Amino acid sequence: MAGRKAIVVGGSMGGVFSALYLRRLGWDVRIFERSSVPLVGRGAGIVTHPELRQALADLGRAAESDLGVPIEKRIAIDAQGEVFAEHPRRQISTSWNRLFEILNEVLPKDIYELGKEFVSFEQDAHSITARFADGTSATGDLLVGADGFRSQVRGVLTPEAKPVFAGYVGWRGLADEARFTPEFRRDVFDTFAFHLPPGEQIIGYPAAGPGNDLRPGHRSWNIVWYRPTTAEQLRRFLTDDTGHEHSVSIPPPLISRSVIAEMRDIAERTLPPQFREAIRIIDQPFFQPIYDFEAPTMAVGRACIIGDAAFVVRPHVGAGVVKAAQDAEAIARHVGGGEDVIGALRAFDAERRPIGAAFVAHVRRLGSYIKREFASEAERSYALANAEPMRVMVETAVLDFMTGGEPTEEKRAVSGA
Ligand SMILES: Cc1cc2nc3c(=O)[nH]c(=O)nc-3n(C[C@H](O)[C@H](O)[C@H](O)COP(=O)(O)OP(=O)(O)OC[C@H]3O[C@@H](n4cnc5c(N)ncnc54)[C@H](O)[C@@H]3O)c2cc1C
Repeated sequence: MAGRKAIVVGGSMGGVFSALYLRRLGWDVRIFERSSVPLVGRGAGIVTHPELRQALADLGRAAESDLGVPIEKRIAIDAQGEVFAEHPRRQISTSWNRLFEILNEVLPKDIYELGKEFVSFEQDAHSITARFADGTSATGDLLVGADGFRSQVRGVLTPEAKPVFAGYVGWRGLADEARFTPEFRRDVFDTFAFHLPPGEQIIGYPAAGPGNDLRPGHRSWNIVWYRPTTAEQLRRFLTDDTGHEHSVSIPPPLISRSVIAEMRDIAERTLPPQFREAIRIIDQPFFQPIYDFEAPTMAVGRACIIGDAAFVVRPHVGAGVVKAAQDAEAIARHVGGGEDVIGALRAFDAERRPIGAAFVAHVRRLGSYIKREFASEAERSYALANAEPMRVMVETAVLDFMTGGEPTEEKRAVSGA
């Protein structure tokens, strides 16, 4: 059916995937992004999954060789810096910028508007109208809320639902390959490395370098260090050097110098040499407070939410982009030519909500041991079972749980299974 119009709110991964999938079916799509300047990555690497490459291939962008940095194995490092376990696992690690660039190569420029902050919508049996902060509006047959973790579309759809702090933060950052010692570059750089102090987890893996550079010597090493953090500590972390307390998260350049100095000091005192070296090289570390969120519904009438707007999944499986892409694919599949948008979104909600909930439950288990105190002996033994190093190495940054634990193509390629 020609002429069906979709309004996409949010022009990050979820919004762009959604626009691309809908356009394939002939929809007239416009993306409305709040930011007034083009989006750029927050300086964190992204481990890719076969499911993500499938989504790129669906959209005519089968980018294997230029997608990112290949990793062949995972290693576990003890407190003294000795490697005590290995696990073969082939994966490609990339950067947010590289992925976004790939998607934008196939997205027409004239359907994307910057500086459009969505405020509210109203709908009736025939159409839906989005209103923006600048006083303009857009009317269509379908509204996709891909406006992330603090979604305003969700605020209109289900105002009562709020993300919950998980009790820990992930310190993140990228270290330039060229600045590592020759020993690090020989033994560690190409691996996905783990160190698992009690109640904590630190991982590191290669990623594309500045300007999406994939050449050896020009890449980055991405680290994420999960540390238990009380609500009171989090408030201190969110307070900048002028004394202003930010809510939910703080822009990296505003993180207080004393909070960063404290993290660096703990790193020097507690981490093995390889991770100490990486943290010293990172010029601007930043932290991400970890939250859980499950939307009570993903669709109301002609409006729906996808990606981080609908479910916030702790980063342990690296699923944010894949989940947003799969939500986007599912919307397009259900709405098809747009004959019955309201019924299609009901079917979309019925399909994707249990999957979002399964993601949240799975990563909650993976992060269950990142804490200092346990409410009961049963909780402690459950958490410790999830802290077992080989289990952590096998389960982190993979989506095998979605296929019932069956290895995905990458694992089979390495193990020969
Ligand atoms: C600029 C940027 C950089 C990122 N970098 C990384 C990274 O390096 N590594 C990583 O793992 N993940 C990164 N992420 C997060 C990752 O993209 C998401 O977790 C995941 O892809 C799900 O994406 P999403 O599209 O659902 O939500 P998001 O990526 O959070 O995008 C939401 C978009 O909606 C826009 N928006 C919010 N409110 C409104 C509104 N009222 N009106 C209009 N637009 C609105 C936001 O500006 C944003 O562009 C980044 C996200 C962004 C926005």
